[in-house]
Amino acid sequence: MLQEIHKKLDEHYSEMVEIRRYLHQYPELSFQETKTAKYIADFYQELDIPCQTNVGGNGVIATLKGGKPGKTVALRADFDALPIQDQKDVPYKSKIDGVMHACGHDGHTAGLLILAKTMKNFQEQLPGTIVFLHQHAEEYAPGGAKPIIESGALDHVDAVFGTHLWATTPFGVLQTSRHAFMAGADRFDVTIQGKGGHGGYPHETKDAIVIGSQIVSQLQQIISRRLDPLETAVITIGQFEAGSAFNVIADTAKLVGTVRHLNTEVRDQIVTEIEKIIEGICVGNDVTYTLNYEKGYPPLINNASETDLLLQASEKVPEVKKAEVVKPVMAGEDFAYYTMEKPGAYFFTGAKLEGNTYPHHHPMFDIDERALPVAAKTLIAAYFEFQEQYG
Ligand code: MN
Repeated sequence: MLQEIHKKLDEHYSEMVEIRRYLHQYPELSFQETKTAKYIADFYQELDIPCQTNVGGNGVIATLKGGKPGKTVALRADFDALPIQDQKDVPYKSKIDGVMHACGHDGHTAGLLILAKTMKNFQEQLPGTIVFLHQHAEEYAPGGAKPIIESGALDHVDAVFGTHLWATTPFGVLQTSRHAFMAGADRFDVTIQGKGGHGGYPHETKDAIVIGSQIVSQLQQIISRRLDPLETAVITIGQFEAGSAFNVIADTAKLVGTVRHLNTEVRDQIVTEIEKIIEGICVGNDVTYTLNYEKGYPPLINNASETDLLLQASEKVPEVKKAEVVKPVMAGEDFAYYTMEKPGAYFFTGAKLEGNTYPHHHPMFDIDERALPVAAKTLIAAYFEFQEQYG
């Protein structure tokens, strides 16, 4: 049956591209994707596949119950876009000023919709139930995955799979990891309240720039001197705002940074160390401060057995020339919440477009559309592999 399904997906290739290009022209920002959600819901209505709308926000969930017994497996595609001006010169360029599908979520959606259309033809012979999980707001924390789960969407689901079309990975290559695959990503800021004054009279001031600089360099020692060297994390201060003139000592300094991690215990340790270092330096310099630490998405941890199953499934997809286990990437992804809740695996589908070397979130970003059916074929192959092993 898998081969027949793959053949049908190929037959629907032009429609898949058409949907992707339509969505590409009408992108919507995270939490504002009402038209895209309606487009998706209308598609399911046309197919006569029951679907639930407004799940945890703008989420849309369609359920295809097969004629044969089996497990329930969710396949997830996100559908939000980014606040970026599309600078590509293509007929399907974004028509919405300042908004762009610069991460490929349009392709995720098109692939999953056509997979649903295809699977409708196989409903009677289908073992188990496919949950087509269309998620809003992946790009902007707190994201859409968490409220979707809180609404009970995964309650009767046995496993969940998802993929990201990946513009820096060649076509025909799949990438995944048996454990940590993508990073947890947090944001923090600290404002130091010193005492400004004349550049020639430092003894009468509390120099916020000097104190801020101590914080910047000591924070780096969390990674090099306080963390177990076999653990991985990143602390980056991306913004340091202070001062107004060359001969004036700054009153305040604001540092804004990100913490990336692959393990929430490591993250908790980093938060404690950040608090201690900032408090120590500020007390020692007799200044006050405010610290805000916002936890973002947790790290995305794949299940080893579902990852192995996915790798086996990918062997049944002719276009996949190589499926490789790779080192984790330090970008974040709220698919993390699904694998915290249920067994599952996430993978990248190589979608590097010949001649286009621009990465995700770039105004020139684009994908090789031939990767759309590869993603759909691999997801449904994983579905069947799961039914075979656990159904
Ligand atoms: Mn993305």
